Amino acid sequence: MSEQIRSGLLIIISSPSGAGKSTLAKRLLAKDPAIDFSVSATTRPMRPQEVEGKDYYFKSQDEFLRMVAEGEMLEHAEVFGNHYGSPLAPVAAAVAMGQDVLFDVDWQGGQQIRASSLRDNVVSIFLLPPSIEELESRLNARGQDSAEVVNNRMSKARDEISHWPEYDYVLVNEDLEACETQLRSIVTAERLRRDRQPGLVERVRKLNAECEA
Ligand code: ADP
Repeated sequence: MSEQIRSGLLIIISSPSGAGKSTLAKRLLAKDPAIDFSVSATTRPMRPQEVEGKDYYFKSQDEFLRMVAEGEMLEHAEVFGNHYGSPLAPVAAAVAMGQDVLFDVDWQGGQQIRASSLRDNVVSIFLLPPSIEELESRLNARGQDSAEVVNNRMSKARDEISHWPEYDYVLVNEDLEACETQLRSIVTAERLRRDRQPGLVERVRKLNAECEA
């Protein structure tokens, strides 16, 4: 039986901040129970309202660095003195059960996941904003960041965008509904790849037997 289960996908979405990754990821996750969101580990302190295992796995610095040293992180990065990473074990377990896992990571995270032991299961998607002006206006409209943080995000956009050729698919997030449909189409097509359908050999064997009968 177990060979009938397809192995899950690692769906990576990257973009400059503000292009719409989180919005699209939320929509995809809400409608497709076969996709889990990869919960990151972090050394930053837990904030009120945050839930262990849902928002993050909260780790001490020692534990985090031990996990990195022992190859237990699919990808990791240090941001303003705090460590962030994607623990390998829950992803490997999900994928073995045929569950897809979605990653909202920057190009550096994307590169590390593509170099990992699970690289054959990776599908990577880069989101572009329709224009730089629109990117800035979305960051401002989101209302989450101060003017300084928005400027900082804008100054990093060019660097992030420069990595688009490393991705399997590139979507321009102009119309959100259209982009969501395109994203869903990619996931559907990737699940249907011949090498990702373990039941095919048996199915064709049956068809052959029926032909001969
Ligand atoms: P990211 O996760 O890439 O930083 P968000 O998902 O937070 O970006 O999106 C940034 C802002 O742009 C949010 O306020 C979101 O509602 C808005 N947004 C996302 N996609 C579109 C779109 N296609 N058209 C207009 N606004 C959008």
